[in-house]
Amino acid sequence: MASSRPSTGSSASPSRSSSRSPSTRRLLVTSALPYANGPIHLGHLVEYLQTDIWVRFQKARGHSAVYVCADDTHGTAIMMRAKREGKSEVELISATREEHLADFSAMGIAFDHYGSTHSDANRELCALFWQRLDAAGLVAKREVTQLFDPEAGVFLADRFVKGKCPRCGTPDQYGDNCESCGAAYAATDLIEPRSAYSGAVPELRASPHYFVQIEKLHGFLDGYTQGGGADGGPGPLQPEIANYIKGHFLAEPLRDWDVSRPAPYFGFEIPGAPGNYWYVWFDAPIGYIAATREWCEKNGKELADFWQDDRAEIHHFIGKDITYFHTLFWPAMLKSAGFSLPTRVQVHGFLTVNGEKMSKSRGTFVRARTYVDHLDPAYLRYYYASKLSGSVDDLDLNLDEFQAKVNADLVGKVVNLASRTARFVDALASRYPEDGGLFERGRAAGEEIAAAYEACDFARAMRLVMALADRANEYLDRAEPWKVKKDPSRGEDLRDICTIALNLYRQIMVYLGPVLPSLLAKSEALLGGSLSQWTDAETPLCGVTLGKFEHLMQRVDPSQVSRLIESSKEAEVMETTRESTAQPLDDGGALAAEPLAPICSIEDFGKIDLRVARVLEAEHVPEAKKLLRLTVTLGGEDRRTIFAGIKAAYAPESLVGKLVVIVANLAPRQMKFGLSEGMVLCAGAGGEDLYVLPPEERSSLPGAKPGQRVR
Ligand SMILES: [Zn+2]
Repeated sequence: MASSRPSTGSSASPSRSSSRSPSTRRLLVTSALPYANGPIHLGHLVEYLQTDIWVRFQKARGHSAVYVCADDTHGTAIMMRAKREGKSEVELISATREEHLADFSAMGIAFDHYGSTHSDANRELCALFWQRLDAAGLVAKREVTQLFDPEAGVFLADRFVKGKCPRCGTPDQYGDNCESCGAAYAATDLIEPRSAYSGAVPELRASPHYFVQIEKLHGFLDGYTQGGGADGGPGPLQPEIANYIKGHFLAEPLRDWDVSRPAPYFGFEIPGAPGNYWYVWFDAPIGYIAATREWCEKNGKELADFWQDDRAEIHHFIGKDITYFHTLFWPAMLKSAGFSLPTRVQVHGFLTVNGEKMSKSRGTFVRARTYVDHLDPAYLRYYYASKLSGSVDDLDLNLDEFQAKVNADLVGKVVNLASRTARFVDALASRYPEDGGLFERGRAAGEEIAAAYEACDFARAMRLVMALADRANEYLDRAEPWKVKKDPSRGEDLRDICTIALNLYRQIMVYLGPVLPSLLAKSEALLGGSLSQWTDAETPLCGVTLGKFEHLMQRVDPSQVSRLIESSKEAEVMETTRESTAQPLDDGGALAAEPLAPICSIEDFGKIDLRVARVLEAEHVPEAKKLLRLTVTLGGEDRRTIFAGIKAAYAPESLVGKLVVIVANLAPRQMKFGLSEGMVLCAGAGGEDLYVLPPEERSSLPGAKPGQRVR
């Protein structure tokens, strides 16, 4: 079968001309599979919303488009998380799947099928791919020495080893590259490596691994990634991506790809290789085909009509971080296994919020769930659409611009057309009135708007639609139906004005339908009849009775946005607490920041007299920025003053009555504000991040007493 496939990307035959042929295209569209290890957040949604809008657009154009996705469920991270939470992996991924589906649905993302990589369909397809790669002479087996965590009992993926960068010495870097100097290296090159699971020092262990010798397909990949599409159309990659692949990877021999992992591993065991599993990145893209197969089985279609038919188109939407897999490994796998190549791999950039990386502490790491609890999904769908140009540049969510744009464009320009007219009439005029060519201009713009959607330049599509809305609003301002309404003799005029405004609104809603499906549905209810096809924008609607006017869209309230940010901060704190009670994933950063002091003897330690003390009084030292003045007692008549640098961390009154641990025999120290007679033991990095050490309490026992020695 493989030999019958074309040898370049010419199997991809997109028909991308903006003037549509009447023939319908058969499209299979995917978003990258979200990992089943955490919630969907606004960063993920850049991709899912982009894909959803594109698919809805294709369906509105009358094409047959199937949108599939799935949870990506395998790998060490899932295995370890399940272990930490005391669940089976299957329980963990089922729960995550429910959350993901609820989040996607709330955001209006409409998959035709949502599968899982942990499915029978995927297992069977993986076996088929494996057999064909092997038959093509691409699989090799050899020993690999890898870091192994002896405490957790697992081999460590690169991202689960941290240590000092071998090039610049920056501490706390991951095992694949340095965030400080950008060096790429092997995890085994890290200086002073630590396992992210247990903090243990990893050991080197050898085990057999299977490799795909992708270099054997170098010529094919050159042709596929650098070539154009059929009929001189665009190739499968954006030009900047094609250049990146050429410059970074194809200029040299391609390295063999390690596609197996030894047990223990959560995944599919490789047939004929007991104790070895396919690496998560081997089975994840095959999940696209498995999800298609499940959809086909539900809908009585043939898988081959999508994945083994040159007339079908395959469109992958992905983030730029996974370009390598989708433009080199995946086409190589497809080619070897006898499946069609992607027609298009549409790569997008990352999300920033207010110009910075999403941040948990700033509350800009916003989950989809938190978003829909506070704001209308339509706002974000429109805002992203207005920013997505089809390039690989990062997309910035500026929260001020977000509010301003939604209020000005959607509420002020679009919804305004309906909300200022629909209540004045109960039916549209029986003939479409003279409108000075407005509707015709809107109809003529339809193909240009469609071409922008087709090219994923939604920003341009939104600008073109808003230009139509501007003209419609100019008309409305001139016609002033709110004044005409007051003159009983001008009932006909009022009906004509409202008929024009509502038809212009309807036309605009057809063009915005892929972005705003919920507003489209409300508009259908108001105006009667379907607005879901592009051709619905070609002919004005006349004579129909209007539905009851329901509020179409609220303005964004700035307080909702601030509540969203506050809730996002809280959600992250709760998550951190939840995870830490399950079992902390301490990353060794604090230790790396302050290495251990030299060894001391038990005699040395015995010289330091640590005692339990009770805080009797605590007050600010007004002249000192960091100090609190504490009066503590070791019991009985003992009283002593200690100046402690914990002002930023504790309100004085919160300490009164508490037990702490002090260094009781520290030489008294004369300070500007008085004599300090000891030291309160504290952990933390400083500032607010300080924690006094209390003796642990147990309810059944009387507890530690002031004066007791700590050893
Ligand atoms: Zn470095």
